[in-house]
Amino acid sequence: MSSINYVNEELFIEGVSIEAIAGSIETPFYCYSTALMVRRYRDLREALKLLKPTIYYAVKANPNLAVVRTFSHQGAGADVVSVGELRRCLAAGIPANKIVFAGVGKTRSEISEALKEGVFQLNVESEPELIAINEVAESLGLIASVGLRVNPDVDAKTHAKITTGLKENKFGIELDRAPYIFENAARSLENISLKSLSVHIGSQLLDLAPYRIAYRKVAEMTLRLRALGFEIDHLDLGGGLGISYNAEKAPDLNSFSEIVNDIFGDLDCKIGFEPGRYLVGDAGLLVTKVLYIKKGRDKTFIIVDGAMNDLIRPTLYEGYHGVIPVHRGGEIQTKLCDIVGPICESGDYLAQDRVLPELNENDLLAIKSAGAYGAAMSSTYNSRPLVPEVLVNGGEFCLIRRRQTVQESIDLEKIPNWLETD
Ligand SMILES: *Cc1c(COP(=O)(O)O)cnc(C)c1O
Repeated sequence: MSSINYVNEELFIEGVSIEAIAGSIETPFYCYSTALMVRRYRDLREALKLLKPTIYYAVKANPNLAVVRTFSHQGAGADVVSVGELRRCLAAGIPANKIVFAGVGKTRSEISEALKEGVFQLNVESEPELIAINEVAESLGLIASVGLRVNPDVDAKTHAKITTGLKENKFGIELDRAPYIFENAARSLENISLKSLSVHIGSQLLDLAPYRIAYRKVAEMTLRLRALGFEIDHLDLGGGLGISYNAEKAPDLNSFSEIVNDIFGDLDCKIGFEPGRYLVGDAGLLVTKVLYIKKGRDKTFIIVDGAMNDLIRPTLYEGYHGVIPVHRGGEIQTKLCDIVGPICESGDYLAQDRVLPELNENDLLAIKSAGAYGAAMSSTYNSRPLVPEVLVNGGEFCLIRRRQTVQESIDLEKIPNWLETD
């Protein structure tokens, strides 16, 4: 059962029709289903219950306060990659001791704020960063809990731009260097408590085999480090579980949990996961309105009010998103359609070569599976304001981010005094 369904010929998200939302909020806008996000969270927790992991929601997938709080109410922690995300999570009500701070380039001021707030753990990605954390912790008179993010050199078999676990990627520390780093930390980094490894090999993984290979390597390294006398009490196993954008088979949670239980069941470690896309991707729609229909000889261009600045995945990752009419039922068009935005770039499309019913100006379309890395990656290119976001919960909906105004972005700018006369 999905939370996004047609009732008669009208598209609903839970108990609310998209038409009804569009009656009070101008397109384009994002809307999210609470029920679907909560169900995904519970399904994952249920599948992994043997090891009772902490689930750190990877906030970068969708950092809206209301979305973060939805997971917080379920008991989730958060995985953050900037001080901005850290402040958001605190504002949304996630306690600092349930926040993991990851990312390859944390600044000293970010490290300082994270330590002062008392985050659960900083995942470090390089030796110079570990030294910087030690120095900042020393200056604050604190001990920093650190996880070493290792790069297991495993091909996640996903899109090149979201593969992170190969040795040519910028992420993590070569696995074989871990013993040396643990030794060095124990000998000379007095303000570091290093008892954890972390791993994250990429995003939108559909094949579970790379997890098995990477997790085996992490488990072996855990045993090797313990044999050398180091304590390892926590393993952070990353995110990356894929979703079905275009009828691909999404990974089976029970098979995933079998791998996890098999490899980590006897290791006597606290386990954490950092899913992002899996929790929110399918729960979101981008709703957009048809502005014009341009019929060419070979294909039809459906020009809509949403664009690449609102949803960059098709342009950036060749990402596929299903496109469906909000009011269904028309005759199928004979030519394939490109759904394109108003931006002055040939890369400005939301979908290409799709089969769609006949459409008219002002008809609404829903772009599916847009809950992850949609609003989160949007920009104001072409001076298009950031679009609204709506959260649906049963029969209710709430505007959880209003549309930015053009004036707000103009107000950030300044004419220098040498240009003051027209
Ligand atoms: C992006 C990221 C995640 C979440 O990835 P998803 O594919 O959205 O699950 C988890 N951990 C780290 C370190 C990340 O960078």
